[in-house]
Amino acid sequence: MEKDHIDIGDEIDILIKHDRRIEKLNRNFGDLLGKGLQLFSLGGGLTYYILSQILTDFHVKRGYYLVRTPLITNTLLYQISGHLSYYKQNMYIFNIENEEFAIKPMNCPHHILIFINLLEKYRKIKLPFRIFELGTVHRYEPSGSVYGLLRVRSFTQDDSHVFITPNLLEKEIENLMNEMIILYEKVFNINLRSSEFKIRLSLHDPNKMNEYSGSKEDWEYVEDVMRNVINKLASKYNFSIYEGIGEAAFYGPKYDFTLKIGEKEWQLGTMQLDFNLPRNFKLIELVKDYFGIDNLYIIHRAYLGSIERFIGAYLESFKGRLPFVLTPIQVAILDIFTGDKEKDNKIKEYAMKIYNNLKNKEIRVVNIETTKTQLSNMTRILESTYKPYIIIYIGEKEVKDNIYSIRYYNINSKNIEEKKIREEELYNLIEELEKPLEELNNKKYRLFEDFNFIFE
Ligand code: ZN
Repeated sequence: MEKDHIDIGDEIDILIKHDRRIEKLNRNFGDLLGKGLQLFSLGGGLTYYILSQILTDFHVKRGYYLVRTPLITNTLLYQISGHLSYYKQNMYIFNIENEEFAIKPMNCPHHILIFINLLEKYRKIKLPFRIFELGTVHRYEPSGSVYGLLRVRSFTQDDSHVFITPNLLEKEIENLMNEMIILYEKVFNINLRSSEFKIRLSLHDPNKMNEYSGSKEDWEYVEDVMRNVINKLASKYNFSIYEGIGEAAFYGPKYDFTLKIGEKEWQLGTMQLDFNLPRNFKLIELVKDYFGIDNLYIIHRAYLGSIERFIGAYLESFKGRLPFVLTPIQVAILDIFTGDKEKDNKIKEYAMKIYNNLKNKEIRVVNIETTKTQLSNMTRILESTYKPYIIIYIGEKEVKDNIYSIRYYNINSKNIEEKKIREEELYNLIEELEKPLEELNNKKYRLFEDFNFIFE
């Protein structure tokens, strides 16, 4: 049977399988954790951290404002947002000292509070205002539908809210789509120019106008804009586009993005317009009072969807082979000892030189001591667990010839290949694998650019 991402994730120490036994406690890990929840283990913790860092950098360098919101909140916030009336069945609610709390199922209401505060405090704000959080949310999912990292009850969204006036909408949606394309293509090396990327545009049903929030004019205007933007991009990138009439949420039309990673299709990112929350929080009245603007929309968007889902989809599609930039152990150096002290010292010295050079380049590298007889077993263990992209073998012959024997994952052919290379070629190979990071490293942080007036 084909391994799923849970088996693979367990092997590579990304997560811990729920049916794994803790003998001494006479329980399974899953019994102690609860359904739909995951523990990110050693490999998983590192991958999670690196992915969080990449996503945070990506957004801050594009002018988003970073915020942080608590995991629990007074339910009054969700009463105002409306979630308590239409989303309550998915929320965890409890009481402390006669105060009713909910575990946060969505970050939007909190982000709106931050927007309101800035607006009232400075009475000056540049739109579109973009706010970003790696926001952890908890949602009830029936125990029968939870599945590994792909459907969980606790997850972290790469969540952003954009506050915007109608006249700026088209340019902004185009900007957001381009950001997403850069993130997928440049950072995660996923080719969107093939049939692998699909966009579903969910629209309202004109015959059921009474079921929607927002005016007919809002709906028609925004749907036209959204259609224009993807048609423009589709002709450039060859995306497949589907329109679903009557599939929109009651609060606004949306795009959903499906991506074929490997053999499977995944629903990942989403971009949704919202006519409802600006009304519920009286934002339209606020911007009218301060700026004389008579309408405001909110865009909800998550490019990857969630960190959990993205990692799960990747593990499952590529059988544990994560993108190089997310791989916990990128390079393994194996010293092949002979038993002869003098020779082994030379091997160690030669290995440490390359080990230190790679470490200085911030490559995640490990050094393992082995022998000729253990070699194939060690290689097998590495490839069935952490899957480093490059294994470097250093024995007597390599030292003598001043060369490296490598076994590496070729990202173009998607095969494991072997060759002997010189030090310089090894660095070139690694540089190629690290290319996705150029997109992040070449850009500077943009801090408070639109809020310079605070310091004037
Ligand atoms: Zn939202």
